Amino acid sequence: MLTMLFALCHRAAFYARLLRDDNDRADKLEGAPCPRCGRGVLHDRSYKRSPRGHPPEFEQCEGWNVRRSFTCTVCGKRVTPSSRRFLGRRVYFAPVVIAVAMEEVPDLTLAKLNEATLAWVEREYHRSIHSAIAATPLERFLEAESVAREAPSIDDLRVAFTRLETRTQRRSDGTVAIAGVRFEVPSRFGHVKRIHVRYARWDLSRAYVCDEKTGDVIAPVYPQDKARNAELARRQKETPAPRHCARSGGFTSRTPACGRC
Ligand SMILES: [Zn+2]
Repeated sequence: MLTMLFALCHRAAFYARLLRDDNDRADKLEGAPCPRCGRGVLHDRSYKRSPRGHPPEFEQCEGWNVRRSFTCTVCGKRVTPSSRRFLGRRVYFAPVVIAVAMEEVPDLTLAKLNEATLAWVEREYHRSIHSAIAATPLERFLEAESVAREAPSIDDLRVAFTRLETRTQRRSDGTVAIAGVRFEVPSRFGHVKRIHVRYARWDLSRAYVCDEKTGDVIAPVYPQDKARNAELARRQKETPAPRHCARSGGFTSRTPACGRC
């Protein structure tokens, strides 16, 4: 596939095809009304110009070095249609190759094209000497000091798009309400009444308990799972063991030697 694309770029037929496209476009303009003044008509004022990068056989084609151009019979302004053959700065090479390749290469799909482009970048471009830096891009990259900044992690990004708010913890079940959803606060924050939370309005599958002053995330919190909570066995609330009362010889849950057991 890659070889096919490359072979295409080095074939005279490819340039002949671009020339044909240019001529088709130019033919439509000849004799048309002037787009500048609207009064005159366009007549041929083509000039000679050599395209670059073509194989020598292309020079056998008629008009290979002619740039089609027109001038108005009334205002004299020049109109030059865009050209695929004279790949100017504003014309990207890739789209032209792709456009032609789509017609020349059978069964060309976007996936194949992506694969070929990636292979070309990895194997050809990065490993060939670049005239502007007198080295291959890969060597240059490996030798130079890295100035790359590490991309933030997905967790950092999640937190970055959250809002910081304050909630009051419900003492009975240790939860806070955020946008109508109850979140379970870790039991180690059970003694804190006012909790600072971060959350994203569009994603209430998790929220964060934050530091009051810095806003830094301390712990993630998740919505209360009422069904699971209902199934789980609860820890038995501890009741103080009955103590032996020294005076009466019986048992009491109050302090020993109370005199009333
Ligand atoms: Zn005109």
